[in-house]
Amino acid sequence: MTAAMRADAPATDGLDEAARARILAKAALFAPPSNELADGRRDLVGLSREELAAAMAEIGEQPFRAKQLWHWIYHQGVTDFAAMANIAKPLRAKLAERFAIGRPEVAADHLSADETRKMLFRFRDHEAVETVYIPDVTEDRGAVCLSSQVGCTLSCRFCHTGTQRLTRNLSAAEIVGQFMAMRDAYGEWPSPKGETPRLLSTIVLMGMGEPLYNYENVAKAMKIVMDGEGIGLSRRRITLSTSGVVPMMDRAGAELGVNLAVSLHAVTDDVRDVIVPLNRKYNIAELIAACRRYPGASNARRITFEYVMLKGINDSEADARRLVELIDGIPAKVNLIPFNPWPGSTYETSSGNAIRRFANIVMDAGYAAPVRTPRGQDILAACGQLKSKVAGAA
Ligand code: SAH
Ligand code: SF4
Repeated sequence: MTAAMRADAPATDGLDEAARARILAKAALFAPPSNELADGRRDLVGLSREELAAAMAEIGEQPFRAKQLWHWIYHQGVTDFAAMANIAKPLRAKLAERFAIGRPEVAADHLSADETRKMLFRFRDHEAVETVYIPDVTEDRGAVCLSSQVGCTLSCRFCHTGTQRLTRNLSAAEIVGQFMAMRDAYGEWPSPKGETPRLLSTIVLMGMGEPLYNYENVAKAMKIVMDGEGIGLSRRRITLSTSGVVPMMDRAGAELGVNLAVSLHAVTDDVRDVIVPLNRKYNIAELIAACRRYPGASNARRITFEYVMLKGINDSEADARRLVELIDGIPAKVNLIPFNPWPGSTYETSSGNAIRRFANIVMDAGYAAPVRTPRGQDILAACGQLKSKVAGAA
């Protein structure tokens, strides 16, 4: 398809359906390993409620057992069947013979001077990802930044993760497992109820990988996280960041209804084609149209446009003016992210003045334009610095 055709052709439902099917088929090629351990037991983490009930039926147990297990796993956070007080001992033993309640292994744990914490989590096949906890500096709350893939196919030019080839997608268990293991580190079990303050109070899908290229596992994990009888984090406390996988944006909005963040980073296709190569497939006009369609966007639930500030590339006053024209009418805020360097990166971050000028133009147009303070830079935990393999390593 030529660029001109691409820009003019409004995606009909039929076309979108075909595009979605292609994206899901590609995701399946990078499927995670099964939930079976080396000793034949199966990990219960990551199963949907229905799958958990089916697992109980398979061993001849009643459906209410699944409800009990769900509570122990996601509300109490236990990893040992022996702790399940309302289940009789013989059944606990039977469960322990067949199943496990897994966590990723903590392969590294770094604490930044600003309290940001980065963990390297290793999974059963020895693949690993990084997960970051970013505590609020003034209040007892904070965001957990989850990874969705080992590596990324998209190679955005300013992103460290983009230099790590995609090895595979993460399973729902591995996505929810990052959050649960991070909660273990802070002892935040049982899951706080309702509006009780939480240290780990929000989830941002902004770690390694493109979540909409691993949609099914991400969606399954988020449904587990949002379940009110378990972790119980509301969709308002979850933000999914995408570099612009347009056909999947509608589906995520309709099915999950989580907050959306869009990695815009440039306001002309010429620039975006280079720094976010996915733009050659879904250009700015298509991306903005998908944002306008995103269900649930309102003043209370604004779309976040992420904009990495790259000196001399995308940070002029003309760029800022073009940005506000592009997003005109969308309930939105613009998150300005000073570029975080990483070993081998070639860009420079914009000057403080350039960022202020840019922010002022956006704010004058009526949009919030917070400048994201880099967190955890000393441990390479800031946006775009994550990578779980070093060059040359297997
Ligand atoms: N793949 C998804 C989510 C992960 S990246 C996405 O691209 O949206 C989270 C955010 O950090 C994105 O907006 C990403 O573009 C931005 N980012 C990547 N590299 C960066 C860097 N070196 N400095 C600052 N932000 C960066
Ligand atoms: Fe992948 Fe996001 Fe990094 Fe782009 S910015 S390479 S989509 S992780």
